[in-house]
Amino acid sequence: MTESLFSAKPSQEINKIGDYFSGEFLDKIPVAVYSCDASGNLTAFNQASVALWGRTPEIGKEKWSGAFKIFNHNGLVLSPERSPMAKALKEKRALIEEIIIEKANGIKCHVLSHPSPLFSSTGEIIGAVDTLIDLTEKNASEEKHAMLAAIIESSDDAIISKTLEGKITSWNAAAEYMFGYKEHEVLGKHISILIPKSRLQEEDTIITNIKNGTKVDHFETIRITKSGREIAISLTVSPIKNSRGVIIGASKIARDISVQVAAQEQLQLYNSELEKMNSYKDEFIGMASHELKTPLTSVSLYLQMLARSLSDEANKKFVIRSVNQINKLSGLISDLLDVSKVQSGKLILRPDHFDLVELIDDVVEILQETNRTHTIVFEKELAGAGTIYADKHRVEQVLINLLNNAIKYSPKADRVIVKLSTTADRVRVEVKDFGIGVPIEQQQRIFDRFYRIEELGPAYSGLGIGLYLSSEIVSRHGGKLWVESALGAGSTFIFEFPFALTIQ
Ligand code: ADP
Repeated sequence: MTESLFSAKPSQEINKIGDYFSGEFLDKIPVAVYSCDASGNLTAFNQASVALWGRTPEIGKEKWSGAFKIFNHNGLVLSPERSPMAKALKEKRALIEEIIIEKANGIKCHVLSHPSPLFSSTGEIIGAVDTLIDLTEKNASEEKHAMLAAIIESSDDAIISKTLEGKITSWNAAAEYMFGYKEHEVLGKHISILIPKSRLQEEDTIITNIKNGTKVDHFETIRITKSGREIAISLTVSPIKNSRGVIIGASKIARDISVQVAAQEQLQLYNSELEKMNSYKDEFIGMASHELKTPLTSVSLYLQMLARSLSDEANKKFVIRSVNQINKLSGLISDLLDVSKVQSGKLILRPDHFDLVELIDDVVEILQETNRTHTIVFEKELAGAGTIYADKHRVEQVLINLLNNAIKYSPKADRVIVKLSTTADRVRVEVKDFGIGVPIEQQQRIFDRFYRIEELGPAYSGLGIGLYLSSEIVSRHGGKLWVESALGAGSTFIFEFPFALTIQ
């Protein structure tokens, strides 16, 4: 049946183009096919032609093509009488030519035109049939292919493909540069030529992963070049699937990371050097402060004895001032010694039961004696007694440090408040001043060792270790120390810890 529609039976006489085709038959063909009579008048076309042209031409009224506009493959306009169909009719021969068809909506598509003349039973030309094959998709896929090939060739990473058996099937320019082999030297060779003997089992693991469809991502390893040099690379291996989804090989992307690896090793070396120097420094500070403290303690004792023996009040005052200065110096040295103890993990806590209210009272009294500029106000919000289990000497150290700072960093104020309160299981101490404040961005860093706010300049002396030690002592008690402040608006340093210290 099909045959009768498509072509005339050998016995049938063919006199005109209409004897060849029926419209219904043409519509069943999935590619664009149309016909013209010997003078070029359009006689038939199928739905695929309508789709390709983007319009429905009028039979008998249009000649050679139903397209809105045609161009040759270089993009020059082709008048219908110079179209491939017109040429085939004129020259009475079949031909193949690439043309560009522009649809009514302006979309252009590349088309392969195959006009072929048809003859009557008596051998006279009665028309021609043209098959139009849309090349747009094919061209796009060729372009994509060419683009991908160019990307692979210009990549700085070595891109290699191999079969599941490990045979190399492609090798880009970067692979040539990285491993030293030319493409023709490695195609068909086993990938193990790049793998050091001690790492050959890596390939089995990679292939097992690939066979299971799993990608190997950024695997850092060593490979060897043609000259035997080892290079550090980061490897990504992905399965290659055919159009049916079957894994047929693997693509390997290798990035040379020798520079990063060398830099990392160098950094590690510097870091361990730095750690060593740091521990020498801490050891030295520890030793020096210990050695300095002993004679200072003796000088302080002798001066106190001298003060007691002096009857002249003016001289006595000078000696007492000297004792106070020596005590300050001794405090600084103790802090330095504590820093080195913290660093070496030797800051031992000696907890005991004591009344925190009493301790704060004592500290306030002592500091108030030596500080005439500020009044230290003690506020307590306690229901019962303030007995806690902690290292009394260290808690006192924290309080003294926070109160001294509150006075030192509020030169224009005349008041400092220390407040004691409790929560369900914790004590909370707040030291509030009305001084220069701490900018938000530095509120974390002031608890670092030797950190001081630079902008303050030399007006405020200090070593930058008081808060570091205080925060260390509080956290060793299972608590925390922090600051709430704003520049110019004063600061509140707060610490909280459990009623009872548990020593692990
Ligand atoms: P020091 O006071 O010896 O410099 P600290 O460790 O006690 O060292 O404090 C670190 C830094 O934190 C200080 O240099 C200062 O810049 C800032 N600081 C501490 N307490 C206060 C405060 N109450 N108000 C404003 N700034 C403070």
